[in-house]
Amino acid sequence: MNGKVYLVGAGPGDPELLTLKALRLLRQADAVLHDDLVSPQILTLVPRKAQLHEVGKRAGQKSTRQEAIHFLMIELARQGLNVVRLKGGDPLVFGRAGEEMQALRNAGIEFEIVPGVTAALTAAATAEIPLTLRQAASSLLIMTGQFADDRPLPDLRSLLKSGTTVALYMPGPDARETVSRLAAAGVPLRTPCAVISRASTPAQQIAVTTLEKLPSARAQAKPSILILGDVVRLAKTGTLDMTALSTELLPSSPAIAASSANPIDPQETNRA
Ligand code: SAH
Repeated sequence: MNGKVYLVGAGPGDPELLTLKALRLLRQADAVLHDDLVSPQILTLVPRKAQLHEVGKRAGQKSTRQEAIHFLMIELARQGLNVVRLKGGDPLVFGRAGEEMQALRNAGIEFEIVPGVTAALTAAATAEIPLTLRQAASSLLIMTGQFADDRPLPDLRSLLKSGTTVALYMPGPDARETVSRLAAAGVPLRTPCAVISRASTPAQQIAVTTLEKLPSARAQAKPSILILGDVVRLAKTGTLDMTALSTELLPSSPAIAASSANPIDPQETNRA
C-alpha cells in the first residue's frame, strides 16, 4: 500500500512556532524532504531512523530540480513510507505546493496540507506592526519581488492609498533594484517601509525606514521581507533606521496618528 505525503509548514524558524500537528507528523515520519529555509533546530525533531533529504531551492544557488523533488516524494510514498515534505513558513505561500500537489494527484498518491506560520505574519509580530488597522489598513497584499518572468508589478500606488499593507517576500539581492521596481509600480519614495530579516530566529533584525532609504538600511541579511504602508509607523520603538522619519513620511491617517503614541526613535534593534 502507498504511504501518504504531508506537505507541512515549518513556520519561520523558531521551533515553538511549529504547529502541534507538524510536530506530531515530524515525529512519526519515515522520510522528511526539507527546504534549506527550515531551521536546524526543527530538523533535530526528526527521528534518527527517518530518512532526511535536503531539497533546497534557493535562488541563484545549486538546488534540486522541482521534478526531482516530485520523483523522490512519489517514490518514497510508493514504498509505503510516511513522507513529510517540510517547507519554510506556510506551504501554500510561495512554497511550490501547487506544483507538488499536482504531481501527487497525477501519481494517485494521497496527501494532506498542514499550514504553517508564514513570514509576513512573523515579521509583523517581530516588529509589532499591525497588518490591518481599523480605518487605516483594510487589506493585506502578499506579493513576491521575484517573478518567474518579467511581468510588471501591480499598481501599488492606488493599493497603498486605499489602505493596503504590502508584504513583499523575496525582495531580491539588490535593494536599489527593489526600490526602483517598487517605485516604477507607483510606490511613493517616502512610503514607510520595514525590513525584517531572519524573523523569529536569534539573528533577527528590524529596520524601519522609507522606501527611498531602504538601500542604506542595515537589516539586509537573508531571508528578509519588506512591509510597506502607513501601518509601519506603528512599529515598535527603537527600530528606526534613519533620522527625521516622522516629518518626512506621507501624511498620516487620523487612525494612525491616534494610535501612534511615541515618535519612533532613530536606531535599529538587534535582538540577540
Ligand atoms: N513559504 C514561505 C515563503 C517562502 S519564499 C512562507 O510562508 O513564509 C522565501 C521568502 O520568505 C524569503 O525570501 C523571505 O522573503 C521570506 N522569509 C521566510 N522566512 C523568513 C524569516 N524567518 N524572516 C524573514 N523573511 C522570511
